[in-house]
Amino acid sequence: MAKEVLKSIAEEIRRCQLCPLHRERINPVPGEGAPNARLMFIGEAPGAEEDRQGRPFVGAAGKLLNETMAKVGLRREDVFITNVVKCRPPGNREPTSEEVKACLPYLSRQIDLIDPKMICLLGNTAIKALLGEPKAGMRGKSLEKNGRFFFPTIHPAAAIYNPRLKVVLEVHLTKLKALMELEGKNRSMAS
Ligand code: URA
Repeated sequence: MAKEVLKSIAEEIRRCQLCPLHRERINPVPGEGAPNARLMFIGEAPGAEEDRQGRPFVGAAGKLLNETMAKVGLRREDVFITNVVKCRPPGNREPTSEEVKACLPYLSRQIDLIDPKMICLLGNTAIKALLGEPKAGMRGKSLEKNGRFFFPTIHPAAAIYNPRLKVVLEVHLTKLKALMELEGKNRSMAS
């Protein structure tokens, strides 16, 4: 059931012309993964490789995300991965607030349908869209908002050229994995 509805949301996204980004996209990137995922990852917007393939996090940032997930024992096939904005902003610029506003209802519907136990927010665009202005010290910790648990962290793209941030991402995902294990045992994910 969730699988079918997710597919129909993806179809709507493929036909979407709600913002100017549809004009230059090769492929919209609705997101992919387990329809019943307990953990969801949300990034900013597709980059060039994602636009070419129509799949999220398949370029350099995706490679680092995959490697870091594998290191800490999180399996990509168990999670659902998507972005705030489903079409590539030209030149990989940040999406505008109008583009985010136009696209956000798709993400809200994906979240409601999948109903994950935890949502990992990769970078400031995802943090802003779901939690409001990022605050110092909020990354790498879980927080609850409107009955949902969120885990804000850095965007893997930021860690590509900065080894210090690679370590930060790994530390954060290690903690995220531990929180997911607690949740699996019906224990609190508050951190
Ligand atoms: N960066 C993102 O935010 N999302 C992707 O899918 C790829 C790179």
